[in-house]
Amino acid sequence: MTRLVLPLAAGLVLVEAAWLVAALPAAALVSDLGGLLVAGLAAYSCATAARRQPRSVRLFWILLAVTMGLAALGRTVWTVDRLTGGGLPHTPLVGATFVAGIFTGAAALLCSAAAPRTAVGRARTLLDGLIVGLAMIPIGWVLVFRGVAAADLADPLRAFGQLYPMLDLVQLTILVATIGPHRPRWRAMTFIGASLTLRAVADVGYVSLAARGDYAAGHPIDVCWPLSYLLVAAATRCPPPPVRDDTDDAAETPLPPWWRVALPYLPVVGAVAAVVLAHRPTGQIPQLVFMGMMALLAALAVRHGLAANENLRLVVRLRRLAYTDQLTGLPNRLMFTRRLRAALSGSRPVAVLLLDLDGFKQVNDRFGHATGDLVLTGIAERMRTAVNGDGTVARLGGDEFAVLVDRERAVSPEALARRLLVALRPSPGRDEVGVHVSASIGIAEYGPQHASHTDLLRDADIAMYAAKAAGKAAYRSCTPALRESAVSRAELIADLRRAVDEGQLRLEFQPIVDLATGAVTSAEALVRWRHPRLGTLSPDRFLPLAEETGLIVPIDRWVIQEACRAAATWRDRMPATSVSVNIAAAHLRRPDLIATVAAATSTAGLTPSTLTLELTESALIEGSEAVLDRLRQLRELGVRIAIDDFGTGYSALSYLHRIPATELKIDRSFVARLGDDARAYATVEMVTKLAGAFELSVVAEGVETERQHAAVTAIGCVHGQGYRYGHPGDLARLHAALADRDS
Ligand code: C2E
Ligand code: CA
Ligand code: CA
Repeated sequence: MTRLVLPLAAGLVLVEAAWLVAALPAAALVSDLGGLLVAGLAAYSCATAARRQPRSVRLFWILLAVTMGLAALGRTVWTVDRLTGGGLPHTPLVGATFVAGIFTGAAALLCSAAAPRTAVGRARTLLDGLIVGLAMIPIGWVLVFRGVAAADLADPLRAFGQLYPMLDLVQLTILVATIGPHRPRWRAMTFIGASLTLRAVADVGYVSLAARGDYAAGHPIDVCWPLSYLLVAAATRCPPPPVRDDTDDAAETPLPPWWRVALPYLPVVGAVAAVVLAHRPTGQIPQLVFMGMMALLAALAVRHGLAANENLRLVVRLRRLAYTDQLTGLPNRLMFTRRLRAALSGSRPVAVLLLDLDGFKQVNDRFGHATGDLVLTGIAERMRTAVNGDGTVARLGGDEFAVLVDRERAVSPEALARRLLVALRPSPGRDEVGVHVSASIGIAEYGPQHASHTDLLRDADIAMYAAKAAGKAAYRSCTPALRESAVSRAELIADLRRAVDEGQLRLEFQPIVDLATGAVTSAEALVRWRHPRLGTLSPDRFLPLAEETGLIVPIDRWVIQEACRAAATWRDRMPATSVSVNIAAAHLRRPDLIATVAAATSTAGLTPSTLTLELTESALIEGSEAVLDRLRQLRELGVRIAIDDFGTGYSALSYLHRIPATELKIDRSFVARLGDDARAYATVEMVTKLAGAFELSVVAEGVETERQHAAVTAIGCVHGQGYRYGHPGDLARLHAALADRDS
């Protein structure tokens, strides 16, 4: 039966078409019956489609069945009225039935599989349709009715006949708006669209014919209506639409093209033009046009209100999406760094706990990503509960979480880390998916007003890796030592290049005393590097790198200038107190050493004899004739020259007489062994005697204890340097030591 419906309806349409075109007798009756029967068959087809097709399109077919049923009903009433009354029965009942059908048709479209699913979305689509339809009132009036005598239009039913094409357009617009961007298209909608287009054309044709009084029942145009119902019946034979998956499809659906967005507004422009035209001949706007315009304005206002509201919601939703992790609902990395930066600019210390799951990759590999996701959401939940408001928990990505602790807090970051480790411990019944992973936590803490959040995160990262290395399921805090070991050589070299220019170098001064009187006679300048992240580094940490890269030369140059400037601060009170600086072998090989020294002393207003250059034994031995020559020139200037770390080199004493040195510093390794090593004692004694023979002054380095002090004094060293007399310290401390001597 069902299979026969479509051919039957098609046959009926063909017969009617032939009949009307040939203008055979009783054309009016044939037209009425044709419309009625095909509408009935279409209603039947829709009803069976509603039964057979999936739930998602059931309501759509039911509403279409009702629409077709109403069309059949309207045709029936029309036919009866026409046969009994004569003339065209534009009765309110006929009008109401047809209009009701149009409403159910529009409702069907709004329920179609492709229609927006939110109430707001549907309202918007409906309003788009209404706007187009209402805009057609002035346009239609100008196109169709302007030439019609006012008297003919007095019949309200005739005048309102133009509502049919208008309502057709409402439906067509809704259809275009709903099927638009969704792919794959549902073919049934193409048939429905063709049906609506045909009906709109037929209604326009009918209204213009009727307005001019050119229409009579049985006119060939009548065949358009059954044909449009036939198209609806044909639509039921299309396969049902693919099921839309109900996840967030906003991301996948492409944006509609601009013209589709602008579509409802193009007729509005036309309507405005039509009103101007309608106004022209009489200076008045016809009532229908006026009402249409008012309704149009109202629809536009509501539509814009909806759009504005929807935009606001979208913005809020987008913001939420941008700042939250989709899986766990925690703040994401973007949000976390924003909060971290804000916290760092505040007035309280800021700590970050960086948490990385141990062996999470294996979970993913062995149990699949779905299980991995479950583990992550479980961990997120436990963390949230464990932190319980004492910090901000975030997921930085992958299996990496973080907690920001910045408020006036009752817990230390370490206590919080312990709490987290306890919370993440395996607990039977609580392990959501039967797999358990532990976590390693790294802690880093900065004082307030620290600029760099990346440094803080990097420190936490370093500490986290240390926790992993320490056997996992543990926490570690970042210490300078940890940090240092994590910074690579290459990074350190890169940093060192900037150190001089950015003023990160500092000098410390260690007093050298007269062993007989204990008075400070000079000071050795020792360089320190205040590394921005690693803290203060001793020369052993960076001078080897500086020597390898040649950066030692600018560093030494800076030290010479700075040491001279320091000596200038006590020059007037204690002109005899000198300053010594260490000169690297590489620097000694450079001809410009003399110029550097001369410039530094003269700029500081020092006599060159207040400056001592300390050169290591090894640097001197490898020195060429040119180096010796340079040393002689320096001596001629008045600069003093010390042989540093004496006794550690080849100790080829023969070179001593060739070098224009003024003093000799006995290496601290000998001094250290003085108490318990007779050979060390003998060596120091011998060296002191030797120095006397060469008229060199002797400094015993590294004197730490009373015993060492007594020994070097007994041996006859003139000067001593070491912790026994003072640690290296800043210039202020040296000034204090110098003042002691004064008093
Ligand atoms: P150095 O020339 O032998 O400097 C003396 C070192 O011994 C200093 O170490 C000093 O802090 C340390 N020291 C002083 N008294 C004692 C003590 O009683 N016991 C012990 N154990 N150590 C003591 P620092 O400052 O770490 O310097 C290490 C080396 O780095 C220096 O050895 C020197 O060769 C080099 N250096 C330091 N500053 C400069 C510089 O400005 N330029 C160059 N080229 N080298 C420098
Ligand atoms: Ca030295
Ligand atoms: Ca030394």
